[in-house]
Amino acid sequence: MPDIAIVGAGISGLHLALRLQQAGATTTVYAERSAEEVAAERPLSLPVRFGSTRQRERELGVSHWDGAENDTHGVNFVAPPESGIRFFGRLDEPASGVDLRFYLPRLTADYLERGGRVEVLRPDAAEIDRVSRDHDLMVVASGRAATTGLFPRDPDRSPYTEPQRVLTAGLFHGITPTEPGWIHFQVSEAGEIFSTRILTAEGPVHGMVVEALPGGPLEQLASHDHAGDAAGFEKTLLALVAEYAPELRERITDSEFGIVRPGDVIQGGLTPTVRRGWTTLPSGRVALALGDAWVVNDPLAGQGANLGSRCAFELAELIVAGGPFDAGFAERAADRLWRIAEPVVAWSNANVAPPPEHVGEIFATATADPRVADAFVANFNHPAAMWGAIKSPQAAQSWLKGVTAVG
Ligand SMILES: Cc1cc2nc3c(=O)[nH]c(=O)nc-3n(C[C@H](O)[C@H](O)[C@H](O)COP(=O)(O)OP(=O)(O)OC[C@H]3O[C@@H](n4cnc5c(N)ncnc54)[C@H](O)[C@@H]3O)c2cc1C
Repeated sequence: MPDIAIVGAGISGLHLALRLQQAGATTTVYAERSAEEVAAERPLSLPVRFGSTRQRERELGVSHWDGAENDTHGVNFVAPPESGIRFFGRLDEPASGVDLRFYLPRLTADYLERGGRVEVLRPDAAEIDRVSRDHDLMVVASGRAATTGLFPRDPDRSPYTEPQRVLTAGLFHGITPTEPGWIHFQVSEAGEIFSTRILTAEGPVHGMVVEALPGGPLEQLASHDHAGDAAGFEKTLLALVAEYAPELRERITDSEFGIVRPGDVIQGGLTPTVRRGWTTLPSGRVALALGDAWVVNDPLAGQGANLGSRCAFELAELIVAGGPFDAGFAERAADRLWRIAEPVVAWSNANVAPPPEHVGEIFATATADPRVADAFVANFNHPAAMWGAIKSPQAAQSWLKGVTAVG
């Protein structure tokens, strides 16, 4: 059985490590921080994991948060009243939001309890090269902030050169949960605001993500000093939510509203980027990129963590099928993973562009017909099908026809 090194203990690296472990491969996870440090740090993201990812968690035996009270059953999609667009669509399987500072240490513990090895070091490219000599293959799943510099941006697959939204995201008390749980997804001329229940180590709270169009009124939040002026930040946020997401504002109790822990806010922008999928290290070993180290999507479509997990399973299967883990293997693996990622990237990129007319038509039909609303929302869990439905006017027409066909 091969000996695989995985750099990065995020969802991508851990799902790969746990999957390879199940298959009997030897793995070492090189983490940047200990599980205790991860639990204590500021949030890096607030991913909603859709049904397919949760199914993989069940296969891995790490579905610790299954239970109706933590489930998210649908998306309430609301556009400004003058658009006439608003619909509630049900997911085909419930989604879940768990704070990664709670989720990742738990999965790390599972991996260790089953005999896995985690080494904490801060590897840059030189360190990755050094440790690669002890393994058959390196998989680098070190996230979007990684400074390894091993995988240059692929310009043919990366249409954007700057962030398309300016993000402010955080964890908050004081937002009344919906029954059943759903994602509130508000579209406005200033950008999007979405909110859903997130389970943290201290219990359930709400995550809110503000996706500001650059230069618009929501952008100010991203530069507001939330740590030095938490009260001012919360007041500004509430005022903007009142203006741009009034239905969400109605669910907020002023006296209870606030950032959960000091610093529980993320600010900035992500440039959607696809990097080269693999490289040969000076040691002669091959290193493959996985998760955000390979593909960074704007979070609007909620796909990054789900794609990282999906690709981790695919890569595990390829690795278990056997080596040699040379350039030919890397090329084949990168091609196979791109077949999975391409529609996800295409949809995520289309999502941050102004919606074309045929997508507007899908929204209008969803408003009138719950079958369309359900089918559209269910596709958050089936991103290739989502891209298949929206990629062109013809595709949208035939998708709508299929969904509304009687019998
Ligand atoms: C506001 C926001 C909301 C989001 N919402 C969603 C959503 O709803 N659904 C969804 O699917 N996705 C969402 N995402 C994206 C999702 O969170 C990421 O795609 C996902 O967490 C990436 O996982 P990863 O394991 O690839 O990388 P990371 O989570 O970044 O993990 C990488 C790990 O590697 C470590 N590391 C970094 N450098 C090194 C190094 N040199 N050596 C060793 N270790 C290193 C890091 O400390 C980290 O622990 C969202 C992102 C944001 C910002």
